[in-house]
Amino acid sequence: MTEIFFFVIGLFFGSFANVCIRRIPYNKSIVLPASHCPKCLIPIRWKDNIPIVSFLMLKGKCRNCKANISLEYPIVELLTGLYFLLSYLSFGISFSLLISIILGFYLIVISFIDMHLKIVPDILSVSLIFIGIILSPINSAIKYSFLNSITGICFAGFFLLTISYIGSKIYKKEVMGGGDIKLLAAGGGFLGISNIFHAFITACFIGGFVGLVLILFKKKKSSDFIPFGPYISISIILIFFLSHFIHITLLNLINSSIDMFSAR
Ligand SMILES: [Zn+2]
Repeated sequence: MTEIFFFVIGLFFGSFANVCIRRIPYNKSIVLPASHCPKCLIPIRWKDNIPIVSFLMLKGKCRNCKANISLEYPIVELLTGLYFLLSYLSFGISFSLLISIILGFYLIVISFIDMHLKIVPDILSVSLIFIGIILSPINSAIKYSFLNSITGICFAGFFLLTISYIGSKIYKKEVMGGGDIKLLAAGGGFLGISNIFHAFITACFIGGFVGLVLILFKKKKSSDFIPFGPYISISIILIFFLSHFIHITLLNLINSSIDMFSAR
């Protein structure tokens, strides 16, 4: 039952994520005005604004002007719903669940904005840096260490700044945006110094692999700019979950070996 609760809450947060994705880059309020059709500007009634259900009922069209509604809306809703469910199944009711949900929500919004506009708004990345620091005393991924959070942020920031400086000298153009640097720094605040390094390497692998596939299928040219934010986001989440499971596995291992010794 709780599983369904978290999935449905996630769907509604996904609906809110859609609002954030379309308004935050333009400095528009995420509260007012209420949701409206981007084409005819008629406000959307509550019964036409139910995540996924309304999209299916209206067959992806505005009730008033029949304009097509982007498939991205239900995709973001479903993604957020599934993410909330996965977080609950992984962490149970705990501080880790709270952190996972906040981090995941931010990264979903950031990834879609980056895919649309190739930017990561400062208001998101910088506020995420501060949230990471504030939550550090209850964050198991960094062993509840405030210091680990701060060093993670500094390391990620300086590391990417260096790479971007060297890259821009070699290629004579910007290889990594300031948005990516602040995003990885925010990840450092949630993962700590060694984990964020793993996340960066993972992001390079996933980004490189996807880029290669896109070039092979001629969807992109090797000179095209591919936003890096979504890969950084996926990697931060992957390592956040992995660090939790490795931590639990190690604890179990230690406990069972203590049991073995004490049984003798
Ligand atoms: Zn309309």
